Amino acid sequence: MSSRTLAQHASSRIATVPCPLCATPGENFLCVRTRHTDSSIQKFGHLYRGTKSSEWRVCSTCGFVHHNPRPAQKALEQFYAGPHYVPRVTPEAFHHMDWFRSFTQDYYGAKIEFALKHSGLATGKVFELGNTSGGVPLLLNDRGWTVHGIESCPSAYTFTQERLKLPSIQQGFFSSNTRVPEKVDLIWINHMLSQYSDVHDVMKGLTQMMQPGGYLFTVSPTCFHNVSAQSLRWMNACTYSMFTHHSLNQLLSQYGFEEVTHLYNGFDLEKDDLWHLARFTGRKLDPKSFYESPGRVRFSVNVVNPLRSFLLFPFYGHHATGKRFLPLRAARVLFRNPRDFVRKLGSGLRRMVG
Ligand SMILES: [Zn+2]
Repeated sequence: MSSRTLAQHASSRIATVPCPLCATPGENFLCVRTRHTDSSIQKFGHLYRGTKSSEWRVCSTCGFVHHNPRPAQKALEQFYAGPHYVPRVTPEAFHHMDWFRSFTQDYYGAKIEFALKHSGLATGKVFELGNTSGGVPLLLNDRGWTVHGIESCPSAYTFTQERLKLPSIQQGFFSSNTRVPEKVDLIWINHMLSQYSDVHDVMKGLTQMMQPGGYLFTVSPTCFHNVSAQSLRWMNACTYSMFTHHSLNQLLSQYGFEEVTHLYNGFDLEKDDLWHLARFTGRKLDPKSFYESPGRVRFSVNVVNPLRSFLLFPFYGHHATGKRFLPLRAARVLFRNPRDFVRKLGSGLRRMVG
């Protein structure tokens, strides 16, 4: 085997890594069970070498649940740059702009209201670490915001340029080398922080573009305070972190961010996610103050989570089966937010007749 092949071989092996948050070596980490088929692992081909499911551990020091062992950062970069990476395709429906605006409003409108209400921001400059095909920048642009962003998916990037006409969105993977032409008041990350292996590198990049006093809104998949089995399906080969608000605060506190508020399961369309708003005060807090008990975290994932999924199934179910319980779902929306119920009913009726 040539030295180059040997180097490639070494970089493609999955290996146990130190805790991505607190850097504790990984020898004594606790195992958590995921129980489901990892539908994403096939996308990574040789990187996992026949393994059928990603493995997840609880850090024995800080209690952070993360994907471990995992491919080396260099192997991931080679994979994403190589011919075996197949990016997602932008759905045909997105090209009908009225439909796309309505879809984006339904999907992200509540999150936007949450972030703006608790930050007190009405307009300003926003950077999206993208995963919304430009949808959130489009809605904020409609509200008078100056928008910036980055899209890793080539087809989503093309969509933002050719259909949405948002030239300040760039293409690529976010890193500490990513730059924007001006500092921003709000950074928006929807289900992307947990997809980056090196979260410290991401945070270094974010702090460089953040206006003092600005806000970071993060939505992360989570298996804590879950309402459905979707929570464990988030633990797949595409994902590296399962944040709680404690572990997210542990990370953010090292970069001068302080939590404003958080919410688990804020709306119906995407179950089992954590909404978290933090302010960039520049004050660095002690990350140890956010450590969680590793044993309690493991008990929560292995025992409490499946029990909650079972008990709450009639009310939340899974995306595919939830329709069977539509009357219950409708009653729950009506009970929790009558105005939202009327709005959704109207929009559903319009779609039926339109
Ligand atoms: Zn740790």
